[in-house]
Amino acid sequence: MWLILYLRALFAFYKFILLKELKYINKYFSKYKWRILIGLLITILSKLLALKVPQIVGDSLNVVEDYQDGVIKDIAIVKDELLFNVLIIIGVALLSGFFTFLMRQTIIVTSRLIEFDLKNEIYQQYQRLSLNFYKKNRTGDLMNRISEDVSKVRMYVGPAIMYSMNMIVLFAVGFTQMISIDVKLTLYTLIPFPLLSISIFVLSKVIHKRSTIVQQYLSKLTTFNQEFFSGINVVKSYGIEKLIISDFDEIANESKEKNINLHKANALFGPLMILLIGISNLLVIYIGGQQYINGEIQIGTIIEFMLYVNILTWPVAVVGWVTSMVQQAEASQLRINEFLKQVPEIQNNNTDTSTINGNIDFKNVTFIYDDTNITALKDISFSVKSGETMAILGKTGSGKSTIIELIARLYDIDNGKILLDKTNINQVNLNDLRSQIGFVPQDPFLFSDTISNNIKFGKEDATEDEITTAAKNADVHKNIIDFPKGYDTILGERGVTLSGGQKQRVSIARAIIKKPKILIFDDCLSAVDTETEEKILSNLERISKNITTFIISHRVSSAKNADKIIVLDDGKITQQGTHNQLITEEGYYKELYDQQLLEKEI
Ligand code: ADP
Ligand code: MG
Repeated sequence: MWLILYLRALFAFYKFILLKELKYINKYFSKYKWRILIGLLITILSKLLALKVPQIVGDSLNVVEDYQDGVIKDIAIVKDELLFNVLIIIGVALLSGFFTFLMRQTIIVTSRLIEFDLKNEIYQQYQRLSLNFYKKNRTGDLMNRISEDVSKVRMYVGPAIMYSMNMIVLFAVGFTQMISIDVKLTLYTLIPFPLLSISIFVLSKVIHKRSTIVQQYLSKLTTFNQEFFSGINVVKSYGIEKLIISDFDEIANESKEKNINLHKANALFGPLMILLIGISNLLVIYIGGQQYINGEIQIGTIIEFMLYVNILTWPVAVVGWVTSMVQQAEASQLRINEFLKQVPEIQNNNTDTSTINGNIDFKNVTFIYDDTNITALKDISFSVKSGETMAILGKTGSGKSTIIELIARLYDIDNGKILLDKTNINQVNLNDLRSQIGFVPQDPFLFSDTISNNIKFGKEDATEDEITTAAKNADVHKNIIDFPKGYDTILGERGVTLSGGQKQRVSIARAIIKKPKILIFDDCLSAVDTETEEKILSNLERISKNITTFIISHRVSSAKNADKIIVLDDGKITQQGTHNQLITEEGYYKELYDQQLLEKEI
């Protein structure tokens, strides 16, 4: 009776925790329902077969006993019976093994399929979310969600469900068989079982807690090493290897302690199980022995019970383990759900395709970064016509990059208006807008791939001709063909390291190959010398007749040919005009001009 109660309580507990976050996974269960159903059927079959063995062994022993007691007189019958039983045991074991294999093949494979789907779902959400989300969350956390958390949920989908099913079948069938043979013996034998599952549950929680800590230390170590390896230049040139080593030692030592702690808990797992099986076996022998002496049961029954105990131990231990696994999966799914529920800040409000000409108007735009509360732009107004070039100058932190980010609609504004071809920018099809912007960021990012692929990133179907033309216009073609592998040179970690100026020029080639309507250079000419700058700018003038171009710079030389120049200071426009106007006016531009003229003469 208490056993049924115990199972009931267990189910209530499962239901209680399943209902909340992990409900999200149910849609996948129904997607793969046939696989899962077949898996469960196979599980039942394999366990039914496994439970046959103790019965046959018991029967065999009873036959021998009957012969000794003279109940059976003919030895030939005994021999036939034993041979027959041996063959059945072999057959059953083989079949049961085969079904167990199939069970893993169906259920575990399904869990991998669901894992794959879930990862894709999360990945798509990553693509949808806006820049702000990435600034607010740490990369490590984001990576964890797609790897650690999903794998915890997979444990629930696969092993947890498989073992639960295992346990239910083994228990239902095993228990019935045992009860039908001997009620008293059954009850005594099963006394330690609830104890077993509870203690495994507690132990699993401890193990989980400790292994989380071990994980944290592992990522600490990795981060430390990553930084050390990427900063190896600094470490070597400052001669601080000893310091780094002692820091590393400290983390490594702590990590070791935590690992030892974890394995202390892990080491308890086996002995605990053996102890409790042992107690059960003792009870079978003691109680069964008394019953045998009283003539209530045969010797085979004792052996049969001992075999049952051994078969049932694992599923009972698993109850505790599975419960803790489901709890972890629930916590992970909670994190995943929170993340999937996030609505991207920047919404596409218009799905009609629109042609973009590149007329841009800022009308009294004020912008505050909501994470830092910094007012980056204050009452900015300007207007650029399609095909014009505008230069933006100003000290670092004056808001230049912010203007650019707003043109690409990486953020939405609360005050003022940004118009693109007379339409409010948030009503322009976002995909069209982004596809018509060629952006060269302040610190260019190149992928660990070939140079040609890095340029093609701006235009998937670019021909070789287009790639070289873009590279020539960015004045980087000559550098590229100097590499032994030319455009097929691999960049990045295991490839060639480009200089800052070369990187920027590859990045420029990437932007112009796209033939965008709006071209943006965010301070990207700063790392090239004035001569190269001049070349790129004159190429640009040639190819950007119909392109609205923004050039952010610290140098007057980049700005002087622009149709319009604005000077920013602390988020405000302080000067506005053409080169010729601004050099006659007292202010930042003239100061910069005089200073750079002087430098040139020297
Ligand atoms: P510039 O490009 O002229 O150097 P920015 O536009 O990058 O200037 O920055 C303008 C101001 O906004 C600075 O005070 C900077 O600290 C702040 N800022 C820039 N980017 C962010 C951001 N993502 N979150 C919060 N504050 C920012
Ligand atoms: Mg900037």
